[in-house]
Amino acid sequence: MAEGGETQTAMMFDSHMHTPLCKHAYGDPEEYVQSGWRAGLAGIVFTCHSPMPDRFSHHVRMDPSEYETYVGMVERAADTAPEGFEVRLGLESDFFPGMEEWLTELHGRVPLHYVLGSVHWHIPEYRHAFWKGDIVEFQRTYFRHLADSAETGLFDSLAHPDLVKNAEPDFWNFERMRGEIEDALDRIAAAGTAMELNTSGVNKVYPEMNPGPEMLRMMCERGIPVVIGSDSHVPERVAADFETAFDVLEEAGYESVSVFRNRKREDLKIAEVRINRWETIGRRAEEAAEAAAPGH
Ligand SMILES: [Zn+2]
Ligand SMILES: [Zn+2]
Repeated sequence: MAEGGETQTAMMFDSHMHTPLCKHAYGDPEEYVQSGWRAGLAGIVFTCHSPMPDRFSHHVRMDPSEYETYVGMVERAADTAPEGFEVRLGLESDFFPGMEEWLTELHGRVPLHYVLGSVHWHIPEYRHAFWKGDIVEFQRTYFRHLADSAETGLFDSLAHPDLVKNAEPDFWNFERMRGEIEDALDRIAAAGTAMELNTSGVNKVYPEMNPGPEMLRMMCERGIPVVIGSDSHVPERVAADFETAFDVLEEAGYESVSVFRNRKREDLKIAEVRINRWETIGRRAEEAAEAAAPGH
């Protein structure tokens, strides 16, 4: 495991969620805060889809003119959050060859805690550029881009890093792609970039977290740190399936999970995170019950 800092108490964050600015997420940021509070988290990280130039897949992201609005929304959610609950500003930025300069400027414009890099194979611009009519070749391209994205140094972590298995789920064969995945992971490990375990994968057409268990084991062998994110587009999904995610990580050989603060990685022991989260859920539920009790 690469070197990272240690926090005092191992408390969990959900490091991937959206706001209505991306035009396909619902609920106020404040509702995501409430959901994270009830789920016993120490905080949440908003990572809405990055604005892109020239109307690049503009129908699923904020307009460049709304970047400040986004920052303001997250700040307001942080200001109104319960005491001791942290709300961090992050971004889910699209990796697309040629966009590096735009992203460098974008990431430097505001103080971000965490930047997720995403190869979104399903957006029309990506398919137009890289779909050549051969699904296996398309899958190879995806994993090459995943490694390319790590090597740009623009991203703290790589989002849902086997998302392409949903492209033609019947044509997803892990063993066939093993060589490409090994090469990509070697390059990502060398770049020192973390990777995400995205729990929303269980709701996709290939119903498995992203990445799946085999790839997670290969990541562990290479000491690649993992950040968990729910990729919530509705408040109710914050921290969804986190217990299963801890199980899956431990089965793959991981003992710690990571979060980012000021773009620096902090590693938390999974065993401690589990206990602290359950204690926190219990304590907060009691407090809520007391506050709601008659005569209080
Ligand atoms: Zn994404
Ligand atoms: Zn997302």
